Amino acid sequence: MKTLAELAPLLSAPQKIAITHHYNPDADALGSSLGLFHYLNQLGHSCHVISPNAIPDFLRWMPESNSVLIYEENKQAADAVLDESTILFSLDYNHYSRTQTLAGSLTNFNGTKVMIDHHLFPDTVFDFGLSLPSKSSTCEMVYDFINSTSGNSLIDLNIARCLYAGVMTDTGSFKFPCTTGSVHAMVSDLMEKGLQTAPIHQAIFDTFNVNRLRFLGYVLSEKMIIDPATHSSLIPITKEELNRFQLKTGDTEGIVNYPLSIQDIIFSTFITERDNEIRMSFRSKGLFNVNEFARTYFNGGGHANAAGGRSHASLSDTIEIYRKAIIQTENQLKQCYNELV
Ligand code: 5GP
Ligand code: MN
Repeated sequence: MKTLAELAPLLSAPQKIAITHHYNPDADALGSSLGLFHYLNQLGHSCHVISPNAIPDFLRWMPESNSVLIYEENKQAADAVLDESTILFSLDYNHYSRTQTLAGSLTNFNGTKVMIDHHLFPDTVFDFGLSLPSKSSTCEMVYDFINSTSGNSLIDLNIARCLYAGVMTDTGSFKFPCTTGSVHAMVSDLMEKGLQTAPIHQAIFDTFNVNRLRFLGYVLSEKMIIDPATHSSLIPITKEELNRFQLKTGDTEGIVNYPLSIQDIIFSTFITERDNEIRMSFRSKGLFNVNEFARTYFNGGGHANAAGGRSHASLSDTIEIYRKAIIQTENQLKQCYNELV
């Protein structure tokens, strides 16, 4: 894979560019895509953002989010864009399989493939790119990319708002260990360019519907199973419960983090029964590596402190697999707990 710097000659002439991100886009996936979109448009390229599936309501304020092509809703148009594009950007994922339904079309892409991402273990299909798991977010990497091409003066409020959303959410509002000095310097720069941050926090965190909050209350009082011996927490949710509270995909986002606010809990698992699979979310604080846990037991991956996975067993069998995995991991959990400062 060649470096992003080596991409410069290609970008010196106008190109047709497709920008893609992972399935169920979050603020980092959509923010990095639209941030890059606004930047490359300013450079004179003709760009389209293609999302594998719908954009959640709490991200629809992002400038130009209404021009994003949704693959699952408009396959023909998205495939036509991919057919005529000379460059494909893969943002916030490093394996086509993470785009689920879009993966087939990406695999057939004939032009130049570029990846910018901060997850572990990138695939080798990309021609150019940068993989930096130490970075807070893909948005931070897009910001660095813009600066490396002397584009800082082109960062307008559209770009700033998109990039801020991703770096803010992926750092847990600037509290996770990935929140480096460079992250704060980036935010400072964006604010000096006129960015107002409070409206973005409001748009992302203060726009839930009442069912989501009632569901959260129910989950924390009735469903959260704390195991003090292994410093872990499990929340299993059935399809019936999701339906009872009329939850949409995205409404359960973030709930997995709550158990980590308990003093001695360092590992949190959130399991939901979806239509065709069981979805798992893992979070940890300190040294316990949930990426490894997700990879070993649940066919998933992610980062050291935030990962996801899946199971095709029933919900009760999945809980059984989880319990066995916890027994296998118990010593490691205790050790990581002891090393927590
Ligand atoms: P979430 O729990 O929010 O769905 O995912 C947490 C993190 O793990 C995200 O950064 C996401 O990209 C990553 N992730 C989630 N599911 C998978 C998976 O199945 N495979 C890999 N490699 N990463 C995942
Ligand atoms: Mn990300």
